[in-house]
Amino acid sequence: MFEALSGRLSGVFDGLAKRGALSEADVIEAMREVRLAMLDADVALPVVRDFVNKVKERAVGAEVLESISPGQAVAKIVNDALIDALGGAGAVPLNLNAVPPVPVLMVGLQGSGKTTTSGKIALWLKNRERKKVLLASLDTQRPAAQLQLEQLAKQAAVPSLSIVPGQSPVDIARRAMETARLEGFDVVILDTAGRLSIDEVLMDEVRQVRAVTNPAETLLVVDAMTGQDAVNTAKAFNEAVGVTGVVMTRMDGDARGGAALSMKAITGAPIKLTGSGEKLDALEEFHPERVAGRILGLGDIAGLVEKAADTLDHEEGERLAKKMMAGKFDLDDYASQIRQISKMGSISGIMGMLPGMNKVKEAMGDKELDTSILNKHLAIISSMTRKERKTPAIIKASRKKRIAAGSGTTVQDVNKLLKQFGMMSDMMKRFSKLGVKGLMRQGLS
Ligand code: GDP
Repeated sequence: MFEALSGRLSGVFDGLAKRGALSEADVIEAMREVRLAMLDADVALPVVRDFVNKVKERAVGAEVLESISPGQAVAKIVNDALIDALGGAGAVPLNLNAVPPVPVLMVGLQGSGKTTTSGKIALWLKNRERKKVLLASLDTQRPAAQLQLEQLAKQAAVPSLSIVPGQSPVDIARRAMETARLEGFDVVILDTAGRLSIDEVLMDEVRQVRAVTNPAETLLVVDAMTGQDAVNTAKAFNEAVGVTGVVMTRMDGDARGGAALSMKAITGAPIKLTGSGEKLDALEEFHPERVAGRILGLGDIAGLVEKAADTLDHEEGERLAKKMMAGKFDLDDYASQIRQISKMGSISGIMGMLPGMNKVKEAMGDKELDTSILNKHLAIISSMTRKERKTPAIIKASRKKRIAAGSGTTVQDVNKLLKQFGMMSDMMKRFSKLGVKGLMRQGLS
């Protein structure tokens, strides 16, 4: 997700940064490229227009153009505008502020990932918020739907409402709430039936269930891969039944990102959560500022730290992130990072979160970053002296030869590593200048 957009936008800003002084015409030309990149990423036209106008308005003034590093100042403006388009700073948490049992209504088209997401949210609330959750399927349309939810509930080790054949969705909703009240549940997740397209019968059913349960959240599940259709679906659902939040699934696919960037402006509903895989733990909070960082190729340090915290040594993750932010990241830190990453599983997912990694990928051609390359990097770094690891700039020809021989690699490999590390460091420095202190606070406190 976002790879193509990210590649093009970082290209535009690299161009600006290299130039030093900027004229109004340079900014306008850059914005023309930004506009095309966003349209190619399937962002809705009115959103693109608004975005570009906003950035132009802020960027062409003397304050920006005559600043010390105008390229960076423009990038910062774009960063802020991206955050706005994605819904503003900070994640919007699920609202569970009601007298328990709190009903959460799940709506969406068939195949959007609604049932899977219901299971994911149940697991999330159980593990992260220690809630007692009841899952109930109101899908009487698809014969296997209720069984599917029961299966998911078993996987998540969360109770599900017993299946009583012949009951209507409204009856099931009432029974779910009653059961939850009697048995002391905190949250009831009501998974409604999906349809192939939006129709009045579907909306009517949702309205009836809403009327008898009065949900604290009506979450719309949409598939990011459907692009503008996801946005249109959200608009229609919001107008018909009122949506309090969107869950965007299949963020792990190669969607171009337009849906995420258009959602808030077109529908008014914030994206609250995202799904990034079929497994029940593949659910994330949606942090606009982190996503903006990833789009601009600045990485998602806070997200990386969080992910690391789940799997790995939390203190080490924090220490590395702090050094990155301070622009003091050295080859020892890089080695430590590789060791941590290898423990985390999906390499390419993690790579997207590292500042400058899209550049590193580019430099390597289309080749996927795989563990063998990282292992090679580790071997090279461990053949360096301590001084070389702290101050890579001293590594000249004769040292390179020695390091290559010691690590069973070639001087070319050593050069590649140093070049990539140099790019990472540059990105990190740029990142730390871009005012991510707020992000730090949020991610690391
Ligand atoms: P529903 O008809 O909306 O209830 O959709 P399901 O929950 O049955 O999901 C349809 C398919 O999408 C299933 O195979 C899920 O495993 C898959 N799926 C759901 N969420 C995600 C996601 O975030 N990423 C990926 N890759 N697959 C997902």
